Amino acid sequence: MSTPRVRFAPSPTGPLHIGGLRTALYNYLYARKLGGTFILRIEDTDQKRYVEGAEQYIREALTWSGMAPDEGPEAGGDYGPYRQSERSELYAKYTQQLVDAGKAYYAFDTPEALDAARSAAEADGKVFRYDSSTRGGLDNSLEMSADALNARLATDEARVVRLFVQADEQVVFSDVVRGTVRMSTNELDDKVLMKADGLPTYHLANVVDDYEMKITHVIRGEEWLPSTAHHVLLYDAFGFRQNMPAFAHLPLILKPVGKGKLSKRDGAKFGMPVFPMEWDDQASGETFSGFRESGFLPDAVINFLAFLGWNPGTEQEMFNLEELVVAFDLDKIGKSGARFDFDKAKWFNQQYISQLSDDAFADMVAPSVQEAGFDVSREKLLALAPLMRERLNTANELPTTGAYLFTSPNAFDDKQAEKRLKKADLDQLAHVGAILEGVSSWDAEQAGTQLKSWANEHEVKLGILLPLYRIALTGGMSGPDVFELGEVLGKEETIQRWETALAHFRSLQSNLSAA
Ligand code: GLU
Repeated sequence: MSTPRVRFAPSPTGPLHIGGLRTALYNYLYARKLGGTFILRIEDTDQKRYVEGAEQYIREALTWSGMAPDEGPEAGGDYGPYRQSERSELYAKYTQQLVDAGKAYYAFDTPEALDAARSAAEADGKVFRYDSSTRGGLDNSLEMSADALNARLATDEARVVRLFVQADEQVVFSDVVRGTVRMSTNELDDKVLMKADGLPTYHLANVVDDYEMKITHVIRGEEWLPSTAHHVLLYDAFGFRQNMPAFAHLPLILKPVGKGKLSKRDGAKFGMPVFPMEWDDQASGETFSGFRESGFLPDAVINFLAFLGWNPGTEQEMFNLEELVVAFDLDKIGKSGARFDFDKAKWFNQQYISQLSDDAFADMVAPSVQEAGFDVSREKLLALAPLMRERLNTANELPTTGAYLFTSPNAFDDKQAEKRLKKADLDQLAHVGAILEGVSSWDAEQAGTQLKSWANEHEVKLGILLPLYRIALTGGMSGPDVFELGEVLGKEETIQRWETALAHFRSLQSNLSAA
């Protein structure tokens, strides 16, 4: 068997939705797994919906996630061009072939005439469909003489080409995810194949290109399942049925609440990104947030997406791209919708951040630290890696959750401090500064040992001293090991923070006793 040729075929009608990235991923994984070819095809035949910058966005999203196409508008390849807008002649040729064979026909119905037919059907309690039951009464070439038709074609009258769908037939095809799918042709309309603007519809271009590009597997979202019946009819009409690709329709991605399809508006609604990268929408002036800008690592996003519809059948959750290639298969894709659980995405991100090298960690946090206005040396960021690597959900949160790493706390958790201050002897604790001062080689180990042995000797409870020391250094009760933090802050800064906090503790304590 030849190796698979799969395609990711987005329409550049806006930014790539996260569901689109999942489609790309499953195609990519399947190709890589079997040594096949991953193709990017830009389906840009709908001029009305074309959005400037969308193709660029799609390519950048693929690059960011590490899924470079083997063939595509930029990569080139033997089956190009890979933008449908550059393949018009081909579609015209194939359309003519269908018309000549009597499998497709011209229709001249004006939008007004179609509206009228629709209203008439509705008045009868029916839904209008351009099909075997209605086409006889409409303005098309089916009953026209060749002369009459040619005369009309010679004018600039608007016309479309429609597929002739036979009544009372069954369309049967098999889907890798859903098994055998059956549809009656009585449910199907005579789809427009060629539009009045001379450009093909999605259906025609998609089928022609899958055939011409020798696509072996069509892996795409479930929303395309109903269209597949028409595609199968097209393969039959062209006589390509032997070469029809296998179909795999991926389950829907559902809202975080579990009901309804995830939409682009859900990002703002649930406070999470639903696009791989930020997108400034020119039409509405809105900005849609992206995983990349929200501080997610591509590996984490990929791992998270892989599990929206697929699972390996084992307990293992962590899979980088190469591991996914090995574990992935189409037969492990589920039928039921997958919930977009943003907490799970953060969990994956946290896992991947915790595995970063010191250098990669420093690279990751540097932009947000700088943006927050902290002037921090590379050396310090490297030193923070072991302390903070396991404590971040996103790349951006270091300057907020860990502001104390860069600047002394501007507030203290008084409630937590007071709990300890009730029993603390601050005159005794006033020696802490001197003890720290006396630590000759300033590192976490030395500072910790000396402070603790001083406390033991003077019967100072560690349960009181250590929380106050932590509050002095960080402002609150969370954060990394407090002696390691002190090491990174440096001796002088640590002592200074302690002294500042001590003064604050004194006033808190006197308020307590006055109360
Ligand atoms: N252009 C379609 C889209 O935007 C492609 C669907 C398919 O893969 O056939 O998703």
